[in-house]
Amino acid sequence: MKFISTRGGLQVDCASKAIAKGLSDDGGLFVPEKFPLVSLDDISQLCSKDYAERACFVIHKFLEEYDYNDLLSACKNSYSKFEDCDAAPLVKLDDKLFIMELFHGPTLAFKDVALTLLPYLLRKGCDYSGVQQDVLILTATSGDTGKAALEGFKDAEGIKIIVFYPSEGVSDMQKLQMCTQEGGNVNVVAIKGNFDDCQTAVKNIFTSQEIREKLLEKNVVLSSANSMNFGRLVPQVSYYFSAYADLVNSNEIKLGDKVNFVVPTGNFGNILAGYYAKQMGLPIDKLVCASNSNNVLTEFFANGTYDTNREFFKTISPSMDILISSNLERLIFELSGRDAELTKTRMQELKEVNKYTISDSEFNQLKKEFFADYTEEEDCLETIDEVFEEYGYLLDTHTSVAFNTAKNFVEYTKNDKAVVILSTASPYKFAHDVLSAIYEKAPKDAFKCADKLFELTATPIPEQILELKNKERRFNKIIDKTETLEEVLNFVK
Ligand SMILES: *Cc1c(COP(=O)(O)O)cnc(C)c1O
Repeated sequence: MKFISTRGGLQVDCASKAIAKGLSDDGGLFVPEKFPLVSLDDISQLCSKDYAERACFVIHKFLEEYDYNDLLSACKNSYSKFEDCDAAPLVKLDDKLFIMELFHGPTLAFKDVALTLLPYLLRKGCDYSGVQQDVLILTATSGDTGKAALEGFKDAEGIKIIVFYPSEGVSDMQKLQMCTQEGGNVNVVAIKGNFDDCQTAVKNIFTSQEIREKLLEKNVVLSSANSMNFGRLVPQVSYYFSAYADLVNSNEIKLGDKVNFVVPTGNFGNILAGYYAKQMGLPIDKLVCASNSNNVLTEFFANGTYDTNREFFKTISPSMDILISSNLERLIFELSGRDAELTKTRMQELKEVNKYTISDSEFNQLKKEFFADYTEEEDCLETIDEVFEEYGYLLDTHTSVAFNTAKNFVEYTKNDKAVVILSTASPYKFAHDVLSAIYEKAPKDAFKCADKLFELTATPIPEQILELKNKERRFNKIIDKTETLEEVLNFVK
């Protein structure tokens, strides 16, 4: 299958090349030339398969040149790192309300679903597309991608990885997880600024011809572990199918019934994967885009203008503290009828005047597929408390944003179909804020908060959190955003 750039400058003849490159040279994102279709019959067959088999089936639709059985072993290997080998178990809260728990992997966030598999996809991708150089993975993170990518790529042969995170923009546990990372090929650096600064710095390095040539002299090519990379996105498409199959299996829905998915959104990768699943034929009614106080997406869905001229808030759901949602570019490319020139112009406008507006007909299309809302900090905390009271279920701060939005969605639209909320992180990654939601005197220390949370809720503390306590801190560097390039060049020396 061919892959094309959303900005029209480049086309590659297979997924491997798109994955090996990460980002197109013109700054655009790679998208499949067309969406492969999955029939209800196919979905019915997925029902009797395990998670790895379902994932392989969906992923291979895009990654046709990958050997099916080899890909299947890779999926089995990746998802064996999750509890019960299931990357996306469903929990039923009531007749219409379900939580898809995506956080049972090595680093306790949904990013693991893709990043446990990406090293394989990338290595094979380089083989298939004839890349001989070493690969440097450049990653900007709002907290969870960084750790999941480090864990996925640590000690991978021929690959180095450097992660940039906003120095004040991640939770204590997230920071500790990254700074204690093991492996001889990893580097972790804090940037003074927010996630957008990190992401922009990384994108600038990617799109500079000069830097690329410099790196090539050292026998290094760049790739990305961010959801800009199609290889990050495609494993995420699978769990929408898996959740649907689980609902059919447990007789909650009949094959062909439509369901809604509610997604706590930052860079628009997770929810875009849902949109792709829908394009492939999964019976999805609405995709619900849940934001925190950085509600630039909510406004876009309300009036058709994407406008980042606004204050940036540091919230208790830091992985969603993003104003420039990279993957929205893939959506507006689809909405425009795949008009690369127009998409390019809009991205140029976004860069120059920080906003762009879509047409009325695009806007109407958008409204058909999506519902969007946002949740303020107070409501986020209150939701954690209420949901624990009502269901005995402990939400993390990001999933709480989604839960509150799900409630508003059902109230406002009277939609009567099943609602699946994507749970993106373990509550223990955000122990302090989650505890403050249900207990007045949350201590400062994150581990004490974790202990107290366990005492109050009996929700088991994941091993990965307990282990962190005694790990050596290996990375402490903080740099200015203007120093990122130098840091990269030093790292590949
Ligand atoms: C990354 C992340 C999100 C946002 O996902 P996007 O794909 O960037 O929209 C939400 N919640 C958590 C816990 C995350 O780590």
